[in-house]
Amino acid sequence: MNGSYPTSEGRKLLLALIETIETNGNYLSEIDGATGDGDHGINMTKGFRRTKEKLGEQNVTVPQGLDMLGQVLLAEIGGAMGPLYGSFFIDMGQACGDSTTIDKEVFGKMLKAAVAVMQDLGGAKVGDKTMMDALVPAAEEYDKAISEGASFSEALDRMTDAAEKGKEATRGMVAKLGRASRLGERSRGILDAGAASCTLILKTFSDTLQSAAQK
Ligand code: ADP
Ligand code: MG
Repeated sequence: MNGSYPTSEGRKLLLALIETIETNGNYLSEIDGATGDGDHGINMTKGFRRTKEKLGEQNVTVPQGLDMLGQVLLAEIGGAMGPLYGSFFIDMGQACGDSTTIDKEVFGKMLKAAVAVMQDLGGAKVGDKTMMDALVPAAEEYDKAISEGASFSEALDRMTDAAEKGKEATRGMVAKLGRASRLGERSRGILDAGAASCTLILKTFSDTLQSAAQK
C-alpha cells in the first residue's frame, strides 16, 4: 500500500459502501428482527439505493460522496439509524476536509469525528448493545495501532478485527437503548443489527482504502 487513498476516488468508495449494504440487507434485517422490528436492512438498503440513484454517473470526491450519502440517510430514512448514520457519514466527510489524499492521519480524524457525533446524538455507551460496541473499540484500536507505529494498512486491519470482536460481544449484552431494550434480558444471546452494519461499513472503508495499493 502506498500509504494513502486519493480523495478524488469518492465514487469508488461510495459504490463499495452501497454494494456492501445491498448485499447484506436481508442479513441485517434478520438480525434486527430477533430483537427489534426487522427493518434495519430495509432502512439501510433504501438509503444506500437512493444514494446510488442520486449519484448516477457523477464523479465525486470522498467528502462529496459521504455528504451525499449522509444527507439522504438524514432526510429520507426512518428508524433510529437513519439520522444517526446520516450524521456519521456527513461528519466523516467533513473531517476529510480538503485533503487530497486519505492517509493514516486523515482517516484517524474521520474515525474520531464519527465517534464524536454518535456520542453527541445517540448517547449510547459501549455495553448498551448498539453500533457503538463495534465503532468505539475499532476507533480505539486504530489509534493504538498508529501510536505503535503501524502502517495505514495494518492499522486498518486491526480496526476491522476490533469491530468484529466488538460486534460479537453484543451477543452477551442486554439492550439498553432503542426498540431492542423493550426485550430486556431476552435480547441477550443475539447480535445487535447496528453493530453488524457498522462492522460491514468499517470493513468496506478498510478494503477500499487498502485497494489503493493495487493501483
Ligand atoms: P429502529 O430501532 O428505529 O428500528 P434500525 O432498525 O434502523 O432502527 O436500527 C436499529 C439499530 O440502531 C440497533 O441495532 C442499534 O445498533 C442502533 N441504535 C439504536 N439506538 C442507538 C443509539 N442511541 N446510538 C447508537 N445506535 C443506536
Ligand atoms: Mg429496526
